[in-house]
Amino acid sequence: MKKVILLLILIISFISCKDFKKGVEDGYNAAQEEAELKKTEVKLYTLDGGNVLVNKLEIFAQDDAFKGQSKTFADAFYIVEHPNGRLLWDAGLAEGLVGQEPFTTPNGAFTVSRKDSIVSQLKALNLTPKDFNYIALSHSHFDHTGSASKFSEATWLVQESEYNFITSDEQKKGDNYPPIATLTKVKKLNGDHDVFGDGTVIIKSMPGHTPGHQVLYLNLAEAGSILLTGDLYHLQENRDNRGVPSFNFNVDQTLKSMDAFEAFAKETNAKVYIQHSVEDFNKLPKYPKFLK
Ligand SMILES: [Zn+2]
Repeated sequence: MKKVILLLILIISFISCKDFKKGVEDGYNAAQEEAELKKTEVKLYTLDGGNVLVNKLEIFAQDDAFKGQSKTFADAFYIVEHPNGRLLWDAGLAEGLVGQEPFTTPNGAFTVSRKDSIVSQLKALNLTPKDFNYIALSHSHFDHTGSASKFSEATWLVQESEYNFITSDEQKKGDNYPPIATLTKVKKLNGDHDVFGDGTVIIKSMPGHTPGHQVLYLNLAEAGSILLTGDLYHLQENRDNRGVPSFNFNVDQTLKSMDAFEAFAKETNAKVYIQHSVEDFNKLPKYPKFLK
């Protein structure tokens, strides 16, 4: 009799153990399904921040690669909408160009133009600069800072090295400084920064073109991984050949950043968009469409 009871206990505990395991598996699968369903919806809007005709493309190489060539560059800016806030990435060309004839820089290298101001472009999205929590610039050259001054209520996410560079006495005398002068809510970064803390929007430190140059990584629910290059590369040829422009803060740093960028792009299987490439600009959906 004792043996029968012992056998029964063993059978019952085996069955309940199996049930328990199944219960754990079911719970795990349900949690996974829920996580998939709830994958954070981040939207990327691409907008036109003007147009740059590069009259002397040779300045985008350290050698004679582009001698005698010219090329049109896009000059995009981007809105990243996250359920917990909104980020402006880059700010296009100077707003003063709107309504003017195309302007050729004194050295003849660039002819720049801009059709519309950021305030009017945001209006079409029912937004104003006050609706932005953050502004981040790939770097502080004039073709990326144009509309930045309008975002004085947003927190400026800037590498400390870039901040020190652009607020130096020498830079304060030039054209790059005025648009960022009104950005007083500053969060200084030293390396990569996960903007919303969930891995969907990450600023990646990629110094070299300027002391604190950075690129933007997005992990979108449907489109997957995206990388916006800033000016790590200005054109596809420079990505193919690790080409560095003649105007560049530190060539060695840029080459190291290119290696880090390519390794990260491979690791995350990211689609890369070169911000000044007209071809890449055309691939991105424009308002009212967005990438998500
Ligand atoms: Zn640029």
